[in-house]
Amino acid sequence: MQTKILLDEEQIPKKWYNIQADLATPLDPPLHPQTKKPVVPADLAPIFPMELIKQEVSRDRYIDIPDEVRDIFRLFRPSPLFRAHRLEKFLKTPAKIYYKWEGGSPSGSHKTNTSVPQAYYNMKEGIERIATETGAGQWGSALSFATKIFDLDCTVYMVRTSYEQKPYRKIMMQVYGAECLSSPTTRTQSGRAMLEKDPDTPGSLGIAISEAVEDAATHDNTHYSLGSVLNHVCLHQTIIGLEAKEQLAMVEEYPDIVIGCVGGGSNFAGISFPFAGDKITGKHPDVRILGAEPAACPSLTKGLYAYDFGDVAGFTPLMKMFTLGHDFVPAAIHAGGLRYHGDSPIVSKLVHEKVMEAVAYHQNEVFLAAQTFARTEGIIVAPESAHAVKAAIDEALICKKTGEAKTILFNNSGHGNFDMSSYDAFYQGKLVDYEYPAELVKEALAHLPAIP
Ligand SMILES: *Cc1c(COP(=O)(O)O)cnc(C)c1O
Repeated sequence: MQTKILLDEEQIPKKWYNIQADLATPLDPPLHPQTKKPVVPADLAPIFPMELIKQEVSRDRYIDIPDEVRDIFRLFRPSPLFRAHRLEKFLKTPAKIYYKWEGGSPSGSHKTNTSVPQAYYNMKEGIERIATETGAGQWGSALSFATKIFDLDCTVYMVRTSYEQKPYRKIMMQVYGAECLSSPTTRTQSGRAMLEKDPDTPGSLGIAISEAVEDAATHDNTHYSLGSVLNHVCLHQTIIGLEAKEQLAMVEEYPDIVIGCVGGGSNFAGISFPFAGDKITGKHPDVRILGAEPAACPSLTKGLYAYDFGDVAGFTPLMKMFTLGHDFVPAAIHAGGLRYHGDSPIVSKLVHEKVMEAVAYHQNEVFLAAQTFARTEGIIVAPESAHAVKAAIDEALICKKTGEAKTILFNNSGHGNFDMSSYDAFYQGKLVDYEYPAELVKEALAHLPAIP
């Protein structure tokens, strides 16, 4: 009974898989925030390196992973694929549950899969500092690690609620040598405007993005970096699914269901795109692909598929995606992460076209699933990852009813070792199952930008 399915360092993939090559129709282009015309590379050059701008729009099926990046990946890749024997037994399910474990990277999540190449391409272009935002702090710590590896400075705008509630992530960034600020700050125009409007604002990812983009756009030596949503980020994360496919092949398996949790969509894209490609091209037309999101931030299940800004201030290009409106501010009581108002344009398109499905869960049921996982498999997962655990358990329980021995693959995106205050709130009964109100969705959607 094999539990860990491992690859050698030499088997770290040499190329990322670009699903844009296999989409039935091309993506709707991002639009310039003012002119509403398609964005051209020159628009993005002040904040991104050219190599990433090229990857963003590339339709080549495979893109080389630079050797210098693969060298850093040796610190934590290939990541193990586990068979969750003990969870299966506990559930008394005939299903086979496999999970890819991304929590063993330096920052404890999948985010290093993109922070390392992003820091690398910026370093190659002579950039000296990267500005970014972070919600719960995982992206900030992943980028802090990667920038230090390539000798760059890093400024992180951290959403105020997390800055106050998750001091350990902030200290982690300090250990890696980054500067971490509570957003909104008084350092940027957009931060000052937000504070003027509401001095007690809990902050949001949208506001923090505005601050980081403004910082990068107003400093020549500084670029901006995003940890999710964008096509090049999803591209970098496909290393997860490519490895998983190899590992499953070693035990002569192919998944019936592929599951990931969805915030901006990058780890879900990472585990699923190599399989979604098989589905679109007819190699495996029946594979189900399921994204799990919080009911408190239900962009895929309740949002509108429309052009919207990526941030509150309206600095970023407009992207066609599932959105709750760019002025969405999540409930402060929500502990489960995954708070972004929008979603990856590619994931959104594939959900819209029914290649992928989505499901939304309440936070108490999600933490209960995380507890079950910890007590059977041993890992205390991040609250974000717990959404994928919950979906995998639900699918396995359906198999128990139908008697089908389906193969379920899910991405376990990271550990929850810094999330004990969220677990504590769960045990103290303080977590409210908050359904984002339909009226608020409606109201926010009324502010969507008009597209000529
Ligand atoms: C950031 C994060 C997520 C959500 O981001 P995606 O881009 O949707 O993957 C999920 N899990 C963990 C552990 C994270 O750190």
